[in-house]
Amino acid sequence: MEKQFGKRFEGKVAIITASTQGIGFSIAERLGLEGASVVVSSRKQKNVDEAVEQLKARGIEVLGVVCHVSNGLQRKNLIDETIQKYGKIDVIVSNAAANPSADPILEIKESVLDKLWEINVKSSILIVQDAAPHLQKGSSVIFISSAGAYQPQASMAMYGVTKTALLGLTKALATEMAPDTRVNCIAPGFVPTNFADYITKNDAVRKAIMEKTLLNRLGTTEDMAAATAFLASSDASYITGETLVVAGGIPSRL
Ligand code: NAP
Repeated sequence: MEKQFGKRFEGKVAIITASTQGIGFSIAERLGLEGASVVVSSRKQKNVDEAVEQLKARGIEVLGVVCHVSNGLQRKNLIDETIQKYGKIDVIVSNAAANPSADPILEIKESVLDKLWEINVKSSILIVQDAAPHLQKGSSVIFISSAGAYQPQASMAMYGVTKTALLGLTKALATEMAPDTRVNCIAPGFVPTNFADYITKNDAVRKAIMEKTLLNRLGTTEDMAAATAFLASSDASYITGETLVVAGGIPSRL
């Protein structure tokens, strides 16, 4: 039987970046099933169209817009189309990230550094700037960081550092945007998606990662969506400036 959800987002409007597959898509689906009008976006029109169709098929009110998060015109258009159709923004989830290199930090090319900062950090700030004039009282911003933010893994060290920056950004913006807007962050553990294809492609790696968790399994995109929905909802109305680690108990912090 299909799982039933509450309706914590009835009458709310949620924008989720990078949301045509993986964690972003599941967040859009969860918020939509809980009653939100959701705005999905990513770089490719075909992916946007497919995501819109899938969400509509589940009875979700959805708008799809192409938006590469580091393209200022496309970001502006994402906000403009949302406002034209729904008139306001209650939730913004900044989910896009790039991980273009496995190089150690001492060897990473400047162009790769620029791309990592641009997509993982700068675009996260700019999308919130773009959305801010339309955010309602009681609205919520969520950044998608990574459990690796606390201890960047050697194979993706600089990516991890950009995710560490999002923890600071969460604290700083929570201060700036209080009391009308809460700002929180999710730090996912290992979730088999295209982004983390090293998990799906290699059985030994997958098994080793599962054994690192206390719960003996990988995360699901639905696990991340459930945590995001909690932080974005009024159930978390006294929580701001926090990062929730959703990682099956892998070591993150005290
Ligand atoms: P994913 O399954 O590969 O999905 C990525 C989505 O982002 C796609 O819809 C893609 O669509 C879109 N996208 C990629 N680059 C974009 C850009 N520059 N602008 C706009 N959209 C873009 O990835 P995921 O695993 O769900 O990752 C989502 C977030 O979770 C990321 O911030 C990642 O760092 C974080 N995270 C993931 C894991 C994990 O284990 N999976 C762990 C920790 C943190 P298009 O190709 O059409 O653009």
